Amino acid sequence: MTELSDLPIRDDFSGLSPYGAPQLDVPIQLNVNENNFGIPAEVARDIAASVASVIEGVNRYPDREFTQLRSSLAAFLGQGLQPEQVWAANGSNEVIQQFLQVFAGPGRTLLGFTPSYSMYPLYARGTFTTWVSEPRAADFTLRASDAVAAVEREQPDVVVLARPNNPTGTALGLDVIEAVYQAAPGMVLVDEAYQEFSRLPSAIELLPGRPRLAVSRTMSKAFAFAGIRLGYLLADPAVADALRLVRLPYHLSTITQAAAVAALRHAPAMLANVDAIIQQRDRIIRELPALGYTPYPSESNFVFFGGVADPHRTFTALVDRGIIIRDVGIPHTLRVTAGTAEETTAFLTALAEVPNN
Ligand SMILES: *Cc1c(COP(=O)(O)O)cnc(C)c1O
Repeated sequence: MTELSDLPIRDDFSGLSPYGAPQLDVPIQLNVNENNFGIPAEVARDIAASVASVIEGVNRYPDREFTQLRSSLAAFLGQGLQPEQVWAANGSNEVIQQFLQVFAGPGRTLLGFTPSYSMYPLYARGTFTTWVSEPRAADFTLRASDAVAAVEREQPDVVVLARPNNPTGTALGLDVIEAVYQAAPGMVLVDEAYQEFSRLPSAIELLPGRPRLAVSRTMSKAFAFAGIRLGYLLADPAVADALRLVRLPYHLSTITQAAAVAALRHAPAMLANVDAIIQQRDRIIRELPALGYTPYPSESNFVFFGGVADPHRTFTALVDRGIIIRDVGIPHTLRVTAGTAEETTAFLTALAEVPNN
């Protein structure tokens, strides 16, 4: 059998294995922060009809400029955003990779504040960018003065700030972004994959007058659309133009564009369960201490908690009970997605049964 090491792969990839959260076929999936409520049936029917209506035209390439989708996204977000300020790709993963292909690259650096989204160093490697990380405070918060000091020291070409942060759920004030922007010599990318679950306003409101700022968002989490793969970015129109330098031809399929435009017509219905998810998140935070665990504050749709004697053992014991959560590899911690009330009950009940010593 041919092994990876038998192939002439890039030197910097040698010895590495592909990244990916485990996908297990268990009844209760609380591991990748999806919206577990799904899509209302009547909305699903309308999206299906919209997709069906474009199928006859798929002998042609899609609209390379995804014009209608950009208008739909701008209208959905409001805040005076113009379609020219909107970019989109197949998940915010692709958006962020494109961003680094343009603004980072060989001889350039990407600065992040860890622990944070584990893809950031991987995008850096894939784009030949040097990854520089600065640790967060012990409670995973990030103070403006610490962030600015790191930016001044490292002079990064791109700073990435996840708000709320993944995997910790930590909020980040707009004052920190303003301060980082002031100090940064290059681009500042704010990753708002979980913004819909946060009490804080979006960094979109900081965009006017800040051409080096970009905000990425996604339809994968609150919007219950992870399987469609649609992420987007808001920035100065010149930033969107810069991303056109690296996008592959016709990167957003006709089906993706039709499905996303249709879903945005039903935005309130797609987002209807955000409050219910927030309730379950706050319930998990409230109930974990009685089970001997220490949850961290969360502004997202998941809870990061400490006090886990052996994360791998607890993870496995929960899988044995039909529940998958996430072991992100940080000692004595685990992360759980807030789903439906029934799923939360099942998770808390199972966790109470699992020995933790
Ligand atoms: C889930 C996630 C994303 C991207 O998800 P896509 O499905 O590619 O849009 C980006 N950033 C963070 C922090 C995430 O947790």
